[in-house]
Amino acid sequence: MPATDPDCLFCKIIAGEIPSTIVDSDDRTLAFMDINPATRGHALVVPRNHSADLLSVDPEDLAATAVAAQRLAGTAKEALGADGVNLLNCCGEVAWQTVFHFHMHVIPRYTDDAVRLPWIPAPGDTDEISAAGQQIKEQS
Ligand code: 5GP
Ligand code: ZN
Repeated sequence: MPATDPDCLFCKIIAGEIPSTIVDSDDRTLAFMDINPATRGHALVVPRNHSADLLSVDPEDLAATAVAAQRLAGTAKEALGADGVNLLNCCGEVAWQTVFHFHMHVIPRYTDDAVRLPWIPAPGDTDEISAAGQQIKEQS
């Protein structure tokens, strides 16, 4: 039996208590269509075990989710004629997470779709980039 949270929307989808369009499934994961698609074919891959987010998901569930997302990306490209794919995880409210059951978005991309990068790439201050990198290195 997977670890579940009775108040979690995605646990209810996994249990079949809330209907969804399931597109892929294995021992550890389930994939279903997102009801607010960014593009045609936008799906979500979730581990069957409940965990809130990227920082708390079991590493084996994380790995299984990544493999399932890769599989789905390939299938979506073939089935829908997508020109590319974005994988997206949102961890924390500030990073746009709205459902607190770890999941990966699989977003097929099309040459003329409306999705845009949410930041404008521009060179950063080199000292500040190094300082941030140093802080990360010291912690890891
Ligand atoms: P997040 O914002 O946490 O990264 O992603 C949550 C996703 O779940 C959103 O893209 C949202 O559209 C999707 N979602 C929310 N409620 C439901 C639902 O009831 N069914 C399905 N299939 N997707 C949902
Ligand atoms: Zn859950």
